[in-house]
Amino acid sequence: MEGWVLKGLDYSETSRIVTLWTKEKGKIRALAKGARRLKSPFENSLDLLNLCRFQIIHKGGNALDLVTESRVRESYGGLRHHLPNLYAAYHVAELLSEGTEDLDPHPELFEGVHDTLNWLSTESPETRAPSRMSPKTSWVLIQFEFFYLSQMGYFPDFNHCQNCGQIPSPENPAWIFHADSGVLTCDGCRDKFSAQSTQSAKFPQTFKSRPGPLPPSSMAISPDALDVAGRLGNRKICTEVAVEKIRRELRALLNHYLTWLRGRRPKLLGFLGS
Ligand SMILES: [Zn+2]
Repeated sequence: MEGWVLKGLDYSETSRIVTLWTKEKGKIRALAKGARRLKSPFENSLDLLNLCRFQIIHKGGNALDLVTESRVRESYGGLRHHLPNLYAAYHVAELLSEGTEDLDPHPELFEGVHDTLNWLSTESPETRAPSRMSPKTSWVLIQFEFFYLSQMGYFPDFNHCQNCGQIPSPENPAWIFHADSGVLTCDGCRDKFSAQSTQSAKFPQTFKSRPGPLPPSSMAISPDALDVAGRLGNRKICTEVAVEKIRRELRALLNHYLTWLRGRRPKLLGFLGS
């Protein structure tokens, strides 16, 4: 089985429990016996974010699966030299570990994660800024997050006002995104609309592990940003970078929406820039 190591937790004197996100089975938790030993059979293969080939024995019932072997295919060495890109990679890992269900594979999303981690790791040193992600990389990450939302079934409806049906256009500059339901209204309809179903109620339970106070559900967004956002949600990475104003708006929208879906602010958002 092929996948990434998303988390590791010491278990007993000698073992670890690892959370893996695999192409074939989605998220699985498994026991790696002997992983804490000095001469571990796994060596460093179970380090966070490694892409490995695993041998796994399925135990069935309530028993944890067993990892019996893992071989590193990719360790993304380039991430170690650039903290902002490493944080972005941790953010991707968090979306997978806390925002997907166990044993729910998403092969296409797997490929998207692959592309994104490769991008973050292999970005040329010339384009990297010392203390933040480059514009191109922050744009690649935003595209990945919209793709993730679409793969999980939470891509927002950016096409029209949910109440009056009006289509976003520059003539009407005020639009409101409602994070509790993942829809849009024009400013005139912002209070006439009430959420029929709450998106977050359907989101994987693990994603809402520690509920906290949430910001107001609605936020303003420009028709220009909506126009760009409406074309996102697919895997293909478009390296033609959106202008900074649009990037900032879409970063803010993602921060807002992911916080709502999850019931608390994802840990790495503060490191992803604005
Ligand atoms: Zn309206």
